[in-house]
Amino acid sequence: MEKKIFSIVTLGCFRNRYDSGVVTNRFLTKENSLLEPDKISKKNKADILLVNTCGFIDSAKLESIQVIKEAIELKKEKKVKEVYVFGCLVERFKNQLARHFPQVDKWRGVESFEKKYKKRKLGQKPVDFIKICEGCINRCSYCAIPLIKGPLASRPIPEVLKEVKKIDKAGVKELNIVGQDITSWGKDLSKKQNLANLLKHIVKTIKKIKWIRLIYTYPKHFSNDLIDLIASEKKICNYIDLPIQHINKRVLKLMNRKITPEDIISLIKKIREKIPDCAIRTSVIVGFPGETESEFNQLLDFIKEIKFEKLGVFTYSQEEGTKAAKFPGQIHHMTKKKRKRRIMEAQQKIGADNLEKFVGQEITVLVLEKRKGFYIGRSQYDAPEVDGIVFIKRDKLKIGRFYKVKVTDSLEYDLVAE
Ligand code: SF4
Repeated sequence: MEKKIFSIVTLGCFRNRYDSGVVTNRFLTKENSLLEPDKISKKNKADILLVNTCGFIDSAKLESIQVIKEAIELKKEKKVKEVYVFGCLVERFKNQLARHFPQVDKWRGVESFEKKYKKRKLGQKPVDFIKICEGCINRCSYCAIPLIKGPLASRPIPEVLKEVKKIDKAGVKELNIVGQDITSWGKDLSKKQNLANLLKHIVKTIKKIKWIRLIYTYPKHFSNDLIDLIASEKKICNYIDLPIQHINKRVLKLMNRKITPEDIISLIKKIREKIPDCAIRTSVIVGFPGETESEFNQLLDFIKEIKFEKLGVFTYSQEEGTKAAKFPGQIHHMTKKKRKRRIMEAQQKIGADNLEKFVGQEITVLVLEKRKGFYIGRSQYDAPEVDGIVFIKRDKLKIGRFYKVKVTDSLEYDLVAE
């Protein structure tokens, strides 16, 4: 069997990160070897360059197309022999892409559930991800994901636990649980199955994993059981990723978010009461078709009042095939940009003020890497990549270990500790 060198570029969300682990494992046979994409050169050539694309919104689509072009360029320069492109963008636009980029050797959309999860190359210790379900039943009017990934498909408990055991055995310390909407896990299996129930099984199964983080929840499906479990179970991070998207009643209805502003407010209140130190991350969409200036101001005022620890803001993207793409009142891109900027300016101050509260406090961090003169770590209040880090001015720490540190300073998004 001929030895092959392959490389893989992953775009988009943590779920794509997980899928790339599956594809990497398929290519990583005894003969083949993996080359980091940024190491590809005339001297270090790759036989196959794989690109895992994102097709969620305009900016992500543009980024994926840019990376495909760069991969083709590498092929022209004979640094790469073949280019394979897969994932969400291909699932949506395979024929157009193939016509436009004939230099690409293989196209593949998203894979079916069963076929995918047989084996997977584990992530970089001490942090890993597990996908517990695929697809989505919520049908938000602006979202293309159900068009790409189909309806909800939850992985049965035994299969999830089998993989959790493997990840735990491999010495992972932080396990991030992902899906399109993990709070709908089990709804397609039986009435009794729900995320809180699954988490109880996972907590019983793990030995080395100390942090379980919940990413991509859906407010409407966020149960009191789940809040109580997060509040009582030390191994589940006091961190909740809870996209609300908006707070205005009419806009939430048009988005088909199936929830009222009052429900969102009471959910956040319950979380704050039961888990006082919880870091809540949310994301909002500005410039949804028909969003008036006063509806936008209502959202801005709400963000200033609630003071989310972490917040991502997206401009509405008119996605082909979604209901909202045909809604009247599509908003000018300059107005969208202005609204995004106003939310980001407000959140920057809120985020920095929230971080300042940590100065003088002792927190537990997971040490992730060593830099010159300091270490990089993260607390339970920060998710990988999307949130802040902790700069630790200490010596002789071990990567992958937890340490108690004292926070000495706070920056815009990060903390300094010793
Ligand atoms: S819950 Fe998330 S993935 Fe599902 S339709 Fe809504 S935005 Fe899309």
